[in-house]
Amino acid sequence: MSELGILADRVQKHAARRLHDDVRLQVGGVLKSSAVARGPSLVAGECRLAIAVEDHGLDYADDEGVIAPGQDGAGTVLLWDHGTWAPEGDPDAALASGSLAFALQGRKLNGCWRLLRMRPKPRERQVSWRLVTSHDGAARAAGEPDILEEAPQSVLTGRTVEEIAAAVA
Ligand code: MN
Repeated sequence: MSELGILADRVQKHAARRLHDDVRLQVGGVLKSSAVARGPSLVAGECRLAIAVEDHGLDYADDEGVIAPGQDGAGTVLLWDHGTWAPEGDPDAALASGSLAFALQGRKLNGCWRLLRMRPKPRERQVSWRLVTSHDGAARAAGEPDILEEAPQSVLTGRTVEEIAAAVA
């Protein structure tokens, strides 16, 4: 695909009903998005549950602030990381097949991950994936610091979620 190497990756920390990280990968004209409950990990072999959420427009990528109660995605949004990503092969075909391997080149996240679709449980409506950190040169070993705790601030403004929430209160 022609966009290889220039695709946007965005991770937005979202303090909604539950704090989670929205991982957004640009495919064509949209951001394929998933909510990662415990956030992405740099530790090799770590698996994080990633729930597919609706595609977002590209203009959503740099948003930071507070979404008012009652609105879709209500809560505080912080741009935690951004950069580029490179899928292995055609990303649409890979997502359809249930396995997408990709590299991230962000300010905080560097390395390779794989999204693996999980078999749906009976009556389950949501589409669940596992976000698995690959064993590569950039990966951390178990017991090394958690990047989410090490660098919780916005890449855009250096603020924490609490500071963004306080700025509009
Ligand atoms: Mn969210």
